[in-house]
Amino acid sequence: MKTTTRVAVIGGGVVGASVLYHLTKLGWSDVMLIERSELTSGSTWHAAGGFHTLNGDTNMAALQGYTIKLYKELEEITGMSCGLHHVGGVTLADNQDRFDMLVAERAKHRYMGLETEIVGPEEIAKIAPITNLDGIIGALYDPLDGHLDPSGTTHAYAKAARMGGATIETHCKVVETNQRPDGTWDVVTEKGTIHAEHVVNAAGLWAREVGAMAGIYTPLHPMEHQYIVTDDIPEIYERDSEHPHVMDPAGESYLRQEGRGLCIGFYEKPCKPWAVDGTPWEFGHELLPDDLDKVEASIEFAYNRFPVLATAGVKSVIHGPFTFAPDGNPLVGPVPGVRNYWSACGVMAGFSQGGGVGLMLAQWMIEGECERDVTALDVARYGKWITPGYTRPKVIENYQNRFSVSYPNEELPAARPHRTTPMYDIFSDLGAVWGHQFGLEVANYFAQDGDPGYETPTFRRSDAWNATAREVAAVRGGVGINEVQNFGKFSVTGADARAWLDRIMAGRIPQPGRMSLTPMLSPKGQLWGDFTVSCLSDTEFQLTASYGAQEVHHRWFLQNASDDCIVENISDKRTGFQIAGPKSRDLLRACTPDDVDGIKFLDVRRMTIGQVACIVQRVSYTGDLGYEIYCDPMDQRQLWWTLWNAGQPMGIAPFGMRAMMSLRLDRFFGSWLSEFSPDYTAAETGMDRFISFKKNVDFIGRAAAEAERATPPARTFVSFEVDADDADVVAYEPVFIDGEVRGFCTSGGYSHHAGKSVALALVPREHATGTLEAEIEIMGQRRRAVQITTPLFDPDGSAMRG
Ligand SMILES: Cc1cc2nc3c(=O)[nH]c(=O)nc-3n(C[C@H](O)[C@H](O)[C@H](O)COP(=O)(O)OP(=O)(O)OC[C@H]3O[C@@H](n4cnc5c(N)ncnc54)[C@H](O)[C@@H]3O)c2cc1C
Repeated sequence: MKTTTRVAVIGGGVVGASVLYHLTKLGWSDVMLIERSELTSGSTWHAAGGFHTLNGDTNMAALQGYTIKLYKELEEITGMSCGLHHVGGVTLADNQDRFDMLVAERAKHRYMGLETEIVGPEEIAKIAPITNLDGIIGALYDPLDGHLDPSGTTHAYAKAARMGGATIETHCKVVETNQRPDGTWDVVTEKGTIHAEHVVNAAGLWAREVGAMAGIYTPLHPMEHQYIVTDDIPEIYERDSEHPHVMDPAGESYLRQEGRGLCIGFYEKPCKPWAVDGTPWEFGHELLPDDLDKVEASIEFAYNRFPVLATAGVKSVIHGPFTFAPDGNPLVGPVPGVRNYWSACGVMAGFSQGGGVGLMLAQWMIEGECERDVTALDVARYGKWITPGYTRPKVIENYQNRFSVSYPNEELPAARPHRTTPMYDIFSDLGAVWGHQFGLEVANYFAQDGDPGYETPTFRRSDAWNATAREVAAVRGGVGINEVQNFGKFSVTGADARAWLDRIMAGRIPQPGRMSLTPMLSPKGQLWGDFTVSCLSDTEFQLTASYGAQEVHHRWFLQNASDDCIVENISDKRTGFQIAGPKSRDLLRACTPDDVDGIKFLDVRRMTIGQVACIVQRVSYTGDLGYEIYCDPMDQRQLWWTLWNAGQPMGIAPFGMRAMMSLRLDRFFGSWLSEFSPDYTAAETGMDRFISFKKNVDFIGRAAAEAERATPPARTFVSFEVDADDADVVAYEPVFIDGEVRGFCTSGGYSHHAGKSVALALVPREHATGTLEAEIEIMGQRRRAVQITTPLFDPDGSAMRG
């Protein structure tokens, strides 16, 4: 057995095999896979082998598209068969919401270049004639849907990897992973120790146990899952062609032809987590005992939807476990805080996603970054707050909702509240309706008389409309107050702090008492962050950015650490409030003897507010006159009562995230993962105006930014006023210019201040004339959209800066 390797991939399921292949494909041949039994010995061997592109996250959908197209390449390289059946498939909609969701997905597919189609009952009858169409409104047809041979495909990946120089060691259980002081790993197996520069955890059903060998908690849980294969059915075997797939979300089932019969699987509500105390090492090529009781209601539903099933005998029942992360997406990438340790687990749809996961991980390891935004699958999307007690109920919820309609404004309830700030009960008493962000409860809006205490999930304008409008008016007309807890925050201190920031951030680093906005770029020029940098002294800075991206950002900071400065994630150690609106200055004056009038736009000061020591920044994402006030969480309630009591004569009102996202639209402010994300560059999004090309520093991403400056990118960011009806832009709606799809929306919504529907979008640069007229598809209808360049509030910036 090889005893040294550049990469040790632990686990020979479809995911480990794909990672191994992609490492060789991208140029690393000194790589090995270690498998405790035979290849496919976890979930992989008993999978139904179905694949499809449909995924609510656009980047995941693109990776699924990549995976499906890869199989032909694998067959060509290896001469082996993946047992491909490209039969196409329909996803049925039996109610308007489900149909709306499919229509919205189809709209996204237009600019992604996916050839899906919305079909009506008559067409469904031709495509999938065994379907009882009672109550069916329509369906999404995807010609790429299909299935394959799970074992053949895994072995094809393995052969392709071997052809690229990789080694595979089977019957070799990894029992320990020990890190050496230089960051490399001793991977201890039953056959001896392998010294590896990098370790990849692709241990599937045992990923929790393998992660624990390195002291890592891997937030996933196995679930039991069952599908049934029927005896021969004449209506199937007498057809001239193979019957396509049918997803019936109402029945929580997926169905396809298997031989001369059918195969149908269920995501049943009475589902069961498996191996709660850990996956037994002796579990191998075996199935769980049949449990048809669990799927009884689903089977009954299926008999009605597909009447031929009722007469067919059951040939076999396949009941096995596979793993899920709390949101159902894979857990991929460098594990935060553990050098040279990579995650490739939690892949619940290995045959739709395994190829994309392998490609992204190989790019990350070899090139240092991925070609697209991988936030949806990044293992760092969960923080240190995640525990098995949180993961399990979320995984159950995700399994149960696998086929549910997922709405843009939906807040899922399991395992909540998990993390709360000291304001939780005070805000709840004020009517807070809570949302959820990175484990934290965040107020979406404050319900008053007549407002719903629960925002009904919808694709259209929601019943939080009145509350949002009221909160927007309170800010624009007086003063509003909200927490600043859900900002990611870092403290950077030490002799080298300024020099380090100058290298990490592309923008200008401010002088003491001042703030600046700056993009953070990847080496290839992708946007890796949009930061506010506040200089408290030459050796002390506060950074603020996205709360949800804090682990991602911290991981990058640690990878680029300096010996002479300390970077600390203080997201939950510093909290406070933002106050915004024309009366916010009066409010601040009423709470402190310190000079308030002298605080200019983008100033930062240490001040005492009431009796609390605070850091006050003159800036507001609402685009209004406003201040962010940071304090120790232990002081937050005291600070609240000071501001709240002083604000009463001014009509102070709390506002939530729904109002905030409306307010920012008035000035076309972008938000992280919508306008600003690793999918885009600084120049595409207008963030290049914050890059300091003058500074004499080779900041990360400088060469790429300079190149963009010389040759501007093909697309650019624009704002539209949309002739919308009862639904606004959410994200990824296609933009039609001269009748062709030429761009897409990054986000949008309703400006309650201006009374206008607004969309932010990326379009070809040559069309961004300032007077562009386009159409945006919202809920299946093309809506007129006219470019706007003048902010809808405070066009000359006098309120914000004055
Ligand atoms: C009934 C059922 C039907 C399914 N149908 C589909 C479907 O239609 N389409 C689809 O895309 N997905 C389907 N899936 C899910 C699919 O099976 C998984 O997504 C996929 O198999 C995950 O692959 P993996 O490589 O991550 O993990 P696994 O297949 O679990 O592989 C992990 C491997 O790691 C090895 N290993 C673990 N620990 C060690 C160690 N210490 N040392 C060495 N080796 C180790 C194991 O032996 C195993 O071979 C289904 C799952 C089930 C249960």
